[in-house]
Amino acid sequence: MTRENAYLTDKQIKTLKDCLLADKERIINNDNFKNPEQGHLAKDELMDPLDEASINIQVANDLRFRNRENFYLKKINKSLRKIDEGTLGICEDCGAEITFERLMARPTAELCINCKEEAEMNEKHNLKRSKSLGKTLMEIGTR
Ligand SMILES: [Zn+2]
Repeated sequence: MTRENAYLTDKQIKTLKDCLLADKERIINNDNFKNPEQGHLAKDELMDPLDEASINIQVANDLRFRNRENFYLKKINKSLRKIDEGTLGICEDCGAEITFERLMARPTAELCINCKEEAEMNEKHNLKRSKSLGKTLMEIGTR
């Protein structure tokens, strides 16, 4: 079997795998993630039962949290698969080798730092656009 990510040592790969498995464990064992219904009940008890708005916000937050964890869990599984395939740390965009330091900070990294920065710049650009739109709407509202 060919090892494409030979630039990572076995020890480095094992370290990354341990990180990924630990994160996976943490998500799977999170009560809120595991038993969303029970999580809601326990939290709702602490709240004013009449305050439906805040309950809805709580439910929305829990849902957002679960979606985010679910998303991350998928990324973890994908990275674990990459370890088996020997392609972990290979940028999906340009095929460059992602540094071990970057992988340690973010074991699910799919892009090298250059491609990531490019992607983030595009993201920021979009965010700025929608923010200035919000500001414009607010200015119209205060007139
Ligand atoms: Zn790249």
